[in-house]
Amino acid sequence: MTYCINCGEELPKDALFCSKCGTKTGTGATTAPSDEMRETLTRMSHEMEKAFTIAAKEMQEAFKVARNNIQKTIYKEPIVCASCGEKNAGSAIYCFKCGNKLAGKTAGKPKEST
Ligand SMILES: [Zn+2]
Ligand SMILES: [Zn+2]
Repeated sequence: MTYCINCGEELPKDALFCSKCGTKTGTGATTAPSDEMRETLTRMSHEMEKAFTIAAKEMQEAFKVARNNIQKTIYKEPIVCASCGEKNAGSAIYCFKCGNKLAGKTAGKPKEST
């Protein structure tokens, strides 16, 4: 049987805290390392949370860019012929109607999304 060092309440010998006042008690477990550890863990979890938040954000951005790129690839914007105004497929280089070279997006080097 142990007694609370604060209020003197009788406590079971395996009690770690006083059931009456909440003071930490028990078998010489008056040291503080657990508190320190808790603080460290709390800090660590905060850091991790922050890191995860940043990582999640970056991943979201990456996914967004990837999705946009995929959509651009699948749904290529039609190229309007500057000569006759005909809409040509996004991959067209020459106008299918008048043969005019569709100078622009797809002609030449592939363009990065801006
Ligand atoms: Zn107590
Ligand atoms: Zn044309």
